[in-house]
Amino acid sequence: MAVVKLTRALVLLVLIIMARPALARAPLDVETSPTEVNLTPYLEVYEDPYARFGVEDLRHDSFNAQFEPLKRESANFGFSSSDWWVRFSVRNSGDRYQNLTFKLDYPLLDHVDVWVLSGGRVIRTWETGNRQPFSSRAVEHRDFLFPLALAGDEEQTVYLRVRTKGPVNIGLTLFGHNTLLPTIELEYMVFGAYFGGFILLALCISLLYLMDRQVAFLYYLTYIVSYSSYMMAFNGLAFQYLWPEAPEFGQISRPILLTLSIIFLLQFCRSLLGIERVSAFLHRCVTGLQCVLVGVLIAVPVVGYGVLVEPLAIFLLLALVLVLAMGLVAHMKGEPAAKYYLWAWSVFLGGVFIYLLKVFGVLPHNFVTHYGFQIGSFFEFVFLSIALGVRVRELRIQSNVDGLTGLANRRHFDRELTSEFRLSDRPEAELCLMVLDVDHFKDFNDKHGHPVGDKVLKELALVLKKQIRRPGTAFRYGGEEFAVLLPRTDLDEARVLAERLRTRISKDVPFDDVTVSIGVVSRRDGSFDSSAEFFNAGDKALYLAKNTGRNRVAIYRTGMKSFVDARQVSPVTGGGEAG
Ligand code: GH3
Ligand code: MG
Ligand code: MG
Repeated sequence: MAVVKLTRALVLLVLIIMARPALARAPLDVETSPTEVNLTPYLEVYEDPYARFGVEDLRHDSFNAQFEPLKRESANFGFSSSDWWVRFSVRNSGDRYQNLTFKLDYPLLDHVDVWVLSGGRVIRTWETGNRQPFSSRAVEHRDFLFPLALAGDEEQTVYLRVRTKGPVNIGLTLFGHNTLLPTIELEYMVFGAYFGGFILLALCISLLYLMDRQVAFLYYLTYIVSYSSYMMAFNGLAFQYLWPEAPEFGQISRPILLTLSIIFLLQFCRSLLGIERVSAFLHRCVTGLQCVLVGVLIAVPVVGYGVLVEPLAIFLLLALVLVLAMGLVAHMKGEPAAKYYLWAWSVFLGGVFIYLLKVFGVLPHNFVTHYGFQIGSFFEFVFLSIALGVRVRELRIQSNVDGLTGLANRRHFDRELTSEFRLSDRPEAELCLMVLDVDHFKDFNDKHGHPVGDKVLKELALVLKKQIRRPGTAFRYGGEEFAVLLPRTDLDEARVLAERLRTRISKDVPFDDVTVSIGVVSRRDGSFDSSAEFFNAGDKALYLAKNTGRNRVAIYRTGMKSFVDARQVSPVTGGGEAG
């Protein structure tokens, strides 16, 4: 029962979102060209549940007697299979010709038939609506626009019949000849900025995906494309520009695009916040809802939009709950991107709330309140993009960091070595490298156990972190092997640092028998042809340190090119060095 009530409330909410303002009667005098007149107070309305009346009845009293002044704040009648008739009269009591346009501002009505009567005769007729090709429109515009021309002292009555499967919203506004264009210009400027923003964002995200191959970018892209397409369909722009001759497709395009948006949104949020790690329960809920939504997607072309409106409203609500729950849980678990993610949804809901307050008449109609929805979702995307940036940076850091010790890992080392090697091509630039290996670590593991071995590696990494200052960086190169890159450091400084590391490790790592051997190599004046050769030299020096008794530092002599033979390097003695 609660679910049914909630669904009704949600459907009502959707209707309210689509609704417009205010009260009815008497012909509107347009003697002086009006700027912009809300026609709702001038409307008379008749519900024809059995579609009994048509154009031939317009002049019959029995038909006209059915109309009653609209007693509601707005001509919104919810979902209804009836024909809805509204009529209003305009009178030009002056003697100048008046060119007017009236606008029906809900673009998603299936059938909209309009008859204009003057002096008891039908003088204009339009049969249009979302189910007709776009060329049936009186004016090619996303909303329905109809021109009216009144001679001096003329009265015309407009009959409008709406038949639609979606909600029946009949918001009518009358514009004078010089006020419509500025209104539409402003509207299209806002739409241009809004959808232009989406296009730019989609381009940026595509480029980022091509550069980075992070799957979260791809999910974000699918969400941006499906959501902006849905918004284009919702605003009537898709029908005008994307599929003007395919009204049948236009009909199922909205539920399909909305469903796709929710599926991709859930996927994006899940990947953005790493929900699989954070909460297995939410992860399963998302998968479940996505499966159901795929079912909806398949059902849309078969059963049509009408049947699915209520279920879709429920799924939309569930998706929103999941989206917020994922953000809150991820935030509680310390995911840095979650803060921006929650901001994104707060501004979005804030925008919707402001828009609703305007609809309820609490806030005045102005640019911010009227476009609250759009403005909210614009900033939603700004914050989601920031959240994605934070997440990607974090993933990149994670992919460069060794899980056990927290030092930079081998992948990072390879990249840094190549880049620093290239930088050290410049004259006077000096680059040093230390290759460090724990002595007899296999025996240590055998004696103390692997977990204790792990602890040693962690302690050793702590010593490295403490001792190595910028611009130096320490890496865990492999199992019990470490490397230290020292840009802008000369061999003497490196030698001193290596010796300090060796002694500190044997003192600070809380196991007596832990020692390390270190090979040091320096590059100056373009020695070594490649970074691999440079690293090899460091390894050779390490090999020498191992071969000459371990727990010592060995220096690779500069000037000795590649393939260094250990014999070419001066032997080292206890705790000393080879130079
Ligand atoms: P040497 O002095 O010649 O370097 O002797 P070694 O025993 O350290 O050299 P070897 O390469 O034979 O063995 C390396 C050992 O390091 C083997 C392996 O058990 C241990 N090891 C590598 N990675 C880890 C790790 O992540 N944790 C632990 N606990 N041990 C590791
Ligand atoms: Mg080793
Ligand atoms: Mg070792």
